[in-house]
Amino acid sequence: MTTVLKFGGTSLATPDALERVARIVRGGRAPVVVVSAKAGTTNALIAASRTAATGDVVTAETAMTRLAASHDELLRKVARKDGDAAAALEELAQRTKALVRSVAILHECSPRSQDAIASYGELASAEVVAATLRAHGIDALAVPATGIVVTDDAFGNAAPVFEETYVRARAVLLPLVTRGRVPVVTGFIGATRDGVTTTLGRGASDYTAAILAAGLRADECLIYTDVSGVMSADPRIVAEARPLARLSYAEAAELSHFGAKVLHPRAVLPAIEAGIPVRILNTFAPDDAGTTITGQTASDGSIVKATTSLGGLGLLTVAGAEMSGIPGFAAKVFDTTAAEEVSVLMISQASSENSICIVVPADTAERLKAALERMLAKELAYHDVERVTVERPIAVVAAVGEGMRGTPGVAARVFGALGREGVNVIAIAQGSSERNISFCVGEADQVRAVRAIHQEFAREPATVRAG
Ligand code: ASP
Ligand code: MG
Repeated sequence: MTTVLKFGGTSLATPDALERVARIVRGGRAPVVVVSAKAGTTNALIAASRTAATGDVVTAETAMTRLAASHDELLRKVARKDGDAAAALEELAQRTKALVRSVAILHECSPRSQDAIASYGELASAEVVAATLRAHGIDALAVPATGIVVTDDAFGNAAPVFEETYVRARAVLLPLVTRGRVPVVTGFIGATRDGVTTTLGRGASDYTAAILAAGLRADECLIYTDVSGVMSADPRIVAEARPLARLSYAEAAELSHFGAKVLHPRAVLPAIEAGIPVRILNTFAPDDAGTTITGQTASDGSIVKATTSLGGLGLLTVAGAEMSGIPGFAAKVFDTTAAEEVSVLMISQASSENSICIVVPADTAERLKAALERMLAKELAYHDVERVTVERPIAVVAAVGEGMRGTPGVAARVFGALGREGVNVIAIAQGSSERNISFCVGEADQVRAVRAIHQEFAREPATVRAG
């Protein structure tokens, strides 16, 4: 049985970090390593391809030269004698520079060209990591995922063809692992059936790891990053915030929506669906327990496990006493948000139906207000709708936890804590999943609201450690 270990960009950016990676991999059981590009590389590659598309070949090539030099330098520091890796880096750099020049000549960067250029980041980092491991006596080799992850041709955001990918993952990787070798696979990238390089979307190296874990039926999928798991609150807001030992997939999904950026849960779904636990661990503190995410409801006696928040939002209210009982009214509101391509974070309508509140990014609120006024011009003229108002800046705060389901009195404790703090609640929403109570406050109250709720539920045993 194998273990998939994925390392993010900050774990690969310095010689010190790479040393830590080598120590972790050495301790791994039949490890398959998946790597991101080193921190900052993908952004730089995308910027370079855009610059090239303007025809500015000098700036774009200079950026590529700089990226190549930084990988060469890193390789020299971690594995000076590795001629194979140095040659591979050189070839990758030459190929990518040629791509950048073609883009500059054409003054056009198609998503397909951009993917080819962006793939440099993961391909180069796989070479550097494999060389680091070899320098530590581990029999490692770089394996481009273009030979494993089969995707459609939606360049920039390609979707994997799972079954074919799983078959290839086993065919390519298992023989290596069986012989005691350590494959270092590029995250983020794949290829169409015709062999054209694609990418799976920004931040998708976690996705690659989960896909390979599922295909290999791995024991575990370990995601190494630069924090010790998902925290019970943003530590910049709550000093007592603590890492959560266990999260259900559903809880992770609720949390990620608001600010908890450690992991995009959808990215690890292939592993969760295959029954493989996903653990978030810290490259820089590898003995910390981290957070284990599984498909099961993680009942550890806690009620509200985590409190998260997101500021910079606006609250739009469409109000009027005559709105009630008009079918299709909400449809008009949401047709408008869809037409304006505004993402709605929270919705609330009281059962009197006298108002609908929606929470949107603050910088879209005025535009959406104008669009709603156009859409509802007739209703406004007949006073079925009295007004469309905007309040901002506001924040949404969410209390999340599986333990809230079916537990009476949770809302009372949430709002009691806010009341004692003198925080005014503007709107409230709870989905019927009962894993999340969300509410809006003025942005000035965001920090106090998060602290009050975290404090209220801090006594419950959310600190129970994973095994
Ligand atoms: N390097 C890619 C990105 O920055 C993928 C990843 O890091 O997960 O989007
Ligand atoms: Mg990344």
